[in-house]
Amino acid sequence: MFDYHVHTSFSNDCKMPVEEIIKRGISLGIQEIAFTDHVELNVWRPGDLVMDDMFDADVYIKKMQEIQTKYKNQISIKIGVEMGLQLEEKDRINQLICQYPFDFVIGSSHTIDGHDLYYGKLFHEKSKEEAYERYFSEVIKIVEAMECYSVYGHLDLVRRYALKSYANVELEDVDKDMIQWILKTIIEKGKGIEVNTSGYRYGLGGTNPSEEILQLYKKLGGEVITVGSDAHRLEHIGFRIKETYELLKEIGFKYITVFDQREPKFIKLP
Ligand SMILES: [Zn+2]
Ligand SMILES: [Zn+2]
Repeated sequence: MFDYHVHTSFSNDCKMPVEEIIKRGISLGIQEIAFTDHVELNVWRPGDLVMDDMFDADVYIKKMQEIQTKYKNQISIKIGVEMGLQLEEKDRINQLICQYPFDFVIGSSHTIDGHDLYYGKLFHEKSKEEAYERYFSEVIKIVEAMECYSVYGHLDLVRRYALKSYANVELEDVDKDMIQWILKTIIEKGKGIEVNTSGYRYGLGGTNPSEEILQLYKKLGGEVITVGSDAHRLEHIGFRIKETYELLKEIGFKYITVFDQREPKFIKLP
């Protein structure tokens, strides 16, 4: 099992010490963990602060390299990052990615106009259709303009936060055309997507993106796909990953993807 989306205490919204995660991963029989702590540049946070929300990258890399060596006979560790993708920050994001030896970069759309979806501003006085249109049109601009990531994180994340505002968070027909365009662009550029299992924990009853989007990705010829728990707590590590491998096989995928120094490698699904 490979858990390709795990946060640590280097993320502001997570308290898990790195070594606790490693020990838990080993006890669960996980072969490889990719640590993907948050970087979100120029983002609004409560208290009306606009800030770069990120770890000290030098300290992060050094700590992860130490851990890699210490546990190398027990578990494989990849050094990754979950980079909040924002067009206005394109240059700084590229610079950060080039500057540090990340094995793997999840590119995620957590913010619209510098506001984190978490705080719900996107949904104020908007219908679901309007909010989704705004979200996915931003993702379209990002996938057309940016190439700094390995896989696009939880592609339909907007559904997670829409749960508080709307009774039905399913995608409508119009969203699916946008999603198709996004997936085609990702595939053409040789990038991939992740399957994030946290949707089960957030009450979506499935993964992000949804099974329907995964089927579409397969149909369009998508091959690069990672699976991660988006763990922020110890009990999340490895969560529903085996079941998701089964789901991917049912859809027709034969491989999942892992990364080493940003290069994809394909692992046959068990
Ligand atoms: Zn995320
Ligand atoms: Zn995450």
